[in-house]
Order: sequence, then C-alpha cells, then structure tokens
Amino acid sequence: MRVAAILTAAGSGSRLGASGPKALVALAGVPLVVRAARALLASGQVEHLVVTAPADQVAVMEHVLSSATPPVIAEVVAGGATRQASVAAGIARIVAWADGATETDGPGDETRSVVLVHDAARPLVPEAVVRRVISAVEAGHDAVIPGLAVTDTVKQVEQGVARSITGAEADGRAPLGGPALVDILRVVATPDRSTLRAVQTPQGFALDLLRRAHEAGASRAADEASAATDDAALVEALGIDVWVVAGHEDALKVTTPRDLALAEILLAGS
Ligand code: C5P
Repeated sequence: MRVAAILTAAGSGSRLGASGPKALVALAGVPLVVRAARALLASGQVEHLVVTAPADQVAVMEHVLSSATPPVIAEVVAGGATRQASVAAGIARIVAWADGATETDGPGDETRSVVLVHDAARPLVPEAVVRRVISAVEAGHDAVIPGLAVTDTVKQVEQGVARSITGAEADGRAPLGGPALVDILRVVATPDRSTLRAVQTPQGFALDLLRRAHEAGASRAADEASAATDDAALVEALGIDVWVVAGHEDALKVTTPRDLALAEILLAGS
C-alpha cells in the first residue's frame, strides 16, 4: 500500500494570540507545521505530503517548509473556510498523486492507497502513533483514529440555551463590584465514561473511502457551524465503521498559549 498524508495548516492563530497562521507559530524555535510534518515523515512510510495553507499564505508556507533544515518536501495547497474544506482540497491533490502512481504501477492501485490526515496543531505526535494508525488501515480497517480514554466525567449539555445570570443569583450572595455574569447550561446526559475516547490525529483512511466521505458531506464544508470537526465523522455519516487505536498524551492539540507552554515542557523533557 502507498501512504500519503494531508497536513492541515490553514487555520488562524487567533486563539494562540498570533497575528498569522497558527501553523507558523514557533515551538522551541521550529514552526508547528515543520514539527508536525517531521512527525509524520519519521514513520518512514509517508511517500507524499500535502500541506494546506491559508489562501494568502501559500508562498510563505512553501518557503517555511523548503527553508527548514533539512527541508520538508511537500506540495502546498490553499485551504478553505473550514478544516473540512481544507482537507477536501488536500484530498484532490492526493487523488491526483495516486492516479499518477496508478499509471506507473497498474490499475487498481488508487483504492489501495492509505491517506493520513494530521493537524499541524499536533506537532509532537509520536512516531509510534503514526505507525499504529497506518498498520491498522493496512490490516483492513478502512478508517482508523487514535484516541485516549478520558479521565474527566463528560456531560452533554443542552445546545444553544446558555443563559446569563448575575454572580449574586449564582452564589446567593450580593456581588461586591456590581453584577458579574455567569453562563449556565442544563445537563441532558452523562455518557458512560468508559465508552468515551478523546480523539487525536493523524486519522488514517483508505483513500477511496475518505474521498467518498468528503463528497457525501460536501454540503457541510462551507460553514463552521455545520462542518465536520474531524474526518472520521464524515465516514460515520456514511454508516461505515471507524476504529480507534491507542493515541498518546504527547499528541496534544496546541490551541492556547498554555498548550504551547506545555508542549515546550514536553519537548524539553524528551
Ligand atoms: O482551529 P483548529 O485548531 O481546530 O484547527 C485544526 C487544524 O485544522 C489546524 O491544524 C488548522 O491549521 C487546520 N485548519 C485548516 N483550515 C481551516 C481551519 C483549520 O486547515 N479553515
């Protein structure tokens, strides 16, 4: 099987307090996107890498990757308005790559290609996780995601009905410095924690299945409110099984300055 990867790096860095794309923020001197690309390539199995960049940052992303030491060899494409749209743009490039490979290797090869979808926001994913995902797809599971058991109890809350009450109402005492607003939500369910997994990337798929899943869910891609937040959800929507293998705590998602600080501590300790 041939393995290709899409590295999503078209998001903004606003929650990290960065003015440019989050993927270009440095973690101990090296941009997140470069670290995440190296993590994928360290598996020794990824033959082709497509990186999604904000549409106005394609040339910058190409420069950052090609000027890294050693350079990261990748095809950079403009991403879309949502992660789902960005991945769809990446899939088009991977399909073209796989079709080229089929011409060389003979018909039928495309359906046997594996594609990983990984977030630049997870720069420290261990090589073992990448290999585990690829192996499970190669073993015949067409959609495989890394996940961790959750240690918190997770509640499902009613959607869109947050109401604000004053601090005085919330704790039964008069507020000291005027009314503080507190958002309050109704709990509707407590899923059995032992059945929950917090999922990470890279997620691995048979290329043909990922393409079909994105085609079927294409109408969701334009808008953040409807877009899938991971690719496995689009496969689930087709009624096709998705499988979980063990993830790793180091594959944490860097979203806030606190996450970045934590990633720096993890790197220093490794
Ligand atoms: O915003 P969030 O951290 O959830 O994004 C997850 C990943 O998807 C990031 O690596 C980000 O760069 C990428 N992304 C993208 N295109 C978008 C939005 C996010 O490639 N439009």
